[in-house]
Amino acid sequence: MRPSEPFQPSTAYLTHLAGETAGRLSRATVTDSPYAGAPPPLADAVEAAATELAGELDDVVARLHEHPETAYEEHRSVATLVELLARHGIAAETGVHGVDTAFRAEVSGRRDGPTIAVLAEYDALPGLGHACGHNVIAAAAVGAFLALAGTVARDPDAVAGRVVLLGTPAEEGHSGKEVLARNGALDGVDAAIMVHPYGYDLADQVWLGRRLLRWTFTGVSAHASAQPFMGRNALDAATLAYQGVGLLRQQLPPVDRVHAVIVEGGTRPSIITERSVVQLYARSKYPQTLKDLSRRLDDVAAGAALMTGTRVEIDWDQHPPSLPVRTNDALTGRWVRAQRRRGRDPLPAGVVPETIAASTDFGNVSYRIPGIHPLLRIAPPDVALHTAEFAAAAAGPAARTGALDGAVGLALTALDYLCDAELRDAVDAEFAAQGGPLDVPHYFD
Ligand SMILES: [Zn+2]
Ligand SMILES: [Zn+2]
Repeated sequence: MRPSEPFQPSTAYLTHLAGETAGRLSRATVTDSPYAGAPPPLADAVEAAATELAGELDDVVARLHEHPETAYEEHRSVATLVELLARHGIAAETGVHGVDTAFRAEVSGRRDGPTIAVLAEYDALPGLGHACGHNVIAAAAVGAFLALAGTVARDPDAVAGRVVLLGTPAEEGHSGKEVLARNGALDGVDAAIMVHPYGYDLADQVWLGRRLLRWTFTGVSAHASAQPFMGRNALDAATLAYQGVGLLRQQLPPVDRVHAVIVEGGTRPSIITERSVVQLYARSKYPQTLKDLSRRLDDVAAGAALMTGTRVEIDWDQHPPSLPVRTNDALTGRWVRAQRRRGRDPLPAGVVPETIAASTDFGNVSYRIPGIHPLLRIAPPDVALHTAEFAAAAAGPAARTGALDGAVGLALTALDYLCDAELRDAVDAEFAAQGGPLDVPHYFD
């Protein structure tokens, strides 16, 4: 027999993508903001306050990295963050909005202003630790909040409005932010901002909407040799459905993604399979196209069941769906201005290929209220999220610098939002022009 080995894919396409990215990088137009933002002395004070926290933020980056906790298990991480807040005189509430490992803290200036939320993620990946760098997100968010809180405490009349720090667990695979939002976490909040570490500084990037799907096919068991004609084969149904997904792909928009595994396919070759289970992820760039993709996948499953004389149960959303991220350009402009103070120049959308796209539960926030989810470089460009290399980077010197620069960026963006009514009007007008808020919990009904 001729031996066969796994065939390492060619890197030719990746090389082309990198070359195209480099070309777009050299031609990239600079994102800017026409708005005034906060008064410069106030912005300087907030940046200085964040810088003073550098040592404590380094500590957060390291401590969360050393003890990674996965979705809804982030007790120790929450304790680390809440203790840091307490040392600065801030009492955070834990177990808020129906989730044990969520937390919330607030600081208010003058009462007559808007509310902006800074979101902190801190969950890790099973087996990979902080390979998505959420330890850096946590440090940046808490740092931003403390810098603003300190400034407001020194001069409560300087800022109008309220800053909410929201600890949002279980981003990886669980859409924790959707659970919090359904339990009122964003009620009374006008805008939400966060930052995510990455291999580039990006002002904006495509994030795909994602839904989980499970197909359970039920057939009729029979002896596979004696009476196969008396069986109806659930594994055949799963196989046809899997093939159907493969054929469907040619007729999908370019960045739609469907991936599947057959997790149950029977017990013995001599028994016609009575039950089979397929698990899938479906991803798409827009809410509308994700809805369309969902309908087509329902048809694939129903068709496979009909062909094989089996029944299919279609279970969507074992965890809440994630919508794509809808970015607010007016807020993004302020983020970019703040990053330039730190010697960074975030790239506009479209420079890094959108085919390198994942999903985030921040999408669900961004379809409720205006928000941003920019990316911050802490690793070389060729290091992907969810790898051992990215986990290593999330504990290195670039992660610590990133946490501080992220803290300054979030703090100044929030400050600009609270101080500049013209900016807020632009943020709201843009959000309305994008279609306004979506009824996220019922979008796929
Ligand atoms: Zn991730
Ligand atoms: Zn992540």
